[in-house]
Amino acid sequence: MEFRELAALFKCNKCGSCTSVCPLYQNTVHEGMAARGKVALLEAVADGRLKAGESVRAKLEDCLLCGACATNCPSFVPTTDLFLEARAGLAKDLGLPVPIRMLLAALRSPALMSLGTPPLALLQRAGIPRIMLEQLGGLLPDAVRAGLRSMPPAPLRSFRSQAEHLPTNGDGRRGTVGYFAGCFMNWGYAEAAMATRTMLTGMGFRVEAPAVVCCGVPHRAYGDIEAARDLARKNIVALEAYEHVVTDCASCGAALKEYRHLLKDDPDYRERAEKFSRCAADISEFLVKHEFPKPEGHIPLRVTYHDPCHLVRGQGIKSQPREILKAIPGVEYVEMQGADVCCGAAGSFCVTHPALSESVGRDKADHVIATKADVVVSGCPSCLTQLRAMLAAKGSKIKVMHPMELLAASCKAGGGESK
Ligand code: SF4
Ligand code: SF4
Repeated sequence: MEFRELAALFKCNKCGSCTSVCPLYQNTVHEGMAARGKVALLEAVADGRLKAGESVRAKLEDCLLCGACATNCPSFVPTTDLFLEARAGLAKDLGLPVPIRMLLAALRSPALMSLGTPPLALLQRAGIPRIMLEQLGGLLPDAVRAGLRSMPPAPLRSFRSQAEHLPTNGDGRRGTVGYFAGCFMNWGYAEAAMATRTMLTGMGFRVEAPAVVCCGVPHRAYGDIEAARDLARKNIVALEAYEHVVTDCASCGAALKEYRHLLKDDPDYRERAEKFSRCAADISEFLVKHEFPKPEGHIPLRVTYHDPCHLVRGQGIKSQPREILKAIPGVEYVEMQGADVCCGAAGSFCVTHPALSESVGRDKADHVIATKADVVVSGCPSCLTQLRAMLAAKGSKIKVMHPMELLAASCKAGGGESK
């Protein structure tokens, strides 16, 4: 395993600042969980004291990739970049385990996900996952139990299949948006995706949602860089003709903005990726930049907000979602303690590391409950799923919503334009 950023690795002076912000360290008080422990591990690999094998990979995967350590490191050690590079090196040297290869292959196939969603939706409507959890909870393997509780509320029809039957895509007086319907939003949170579309068309944008593939975040996280690059190229081809590329999934948005780094050594795509990443925007960023019309419908709710890691640290977006929520008449906004601390979902981490994920998620649920909010809002489908599961586990009735759902509800209540 080789490091392109070897000098960055040895910048770590072991000060320990990263331990105070690492949600896993805070829950376990285990050095190996924090960036300092992982950096020490990689230093040992880099100078030949330790062989890079499965045990090193297991330690590196004890990580949410939340970025809190990198953001708070006084020596500017790019910890998460180093961990991703090491994961890629290990994937190249050791290959990936079969279940992970299967997961990543499934995520590369929109056809497979299209086929799987309606049966999943029917099972959910019949209450099968809930019954299995209630009746067999203790007997099920941890990963299966975590998988059942981590399922998004699958719609019977994906966002794209619903949108293509609508009579209009908007009048386009302010231009056309290429909407990136990420896997989770398209197949798991179609209603929220529809709310995003409603807001954009209501502002005068024509919205088109061409067929895209997975943004590549899971492939990059597991170290399958070539698959991530292949997906990036496909998405660039699908959307590069649009002046604006907008997504409402924090993870997808961070990935689209990273394509310029991912493809910087590809002579055919370097410039295209650079331009594409500059055009990509999260919906909250886009609405604020384009001066969204103030919603008029009264929504008398106490609302709090959870910052997705891929939005607050991945894209530096913190004020815009709050600005949108505070603009809704009737909303009483309340800040929660540790709003920008990871919720513990971290993509498939909640299934591969259920105990760690739940311990972090329980802390987040406690902070949400302490606000006495009626609704907790977040712009990431993975966070929405984790928040819903963690709040339900505590018997809380607090609703979990995407910011566009609340905004669209206010516009609708105020008789705002939607097409
Ligand atoms: S990674 Fe940064 S914050 Fe953590 S111990 Fe090293 S220098 Fe300190
Ligand atoms: S990325 Fe997050 S979970 Fe991983 S070591 Fe850094 S702070 Fe801890």
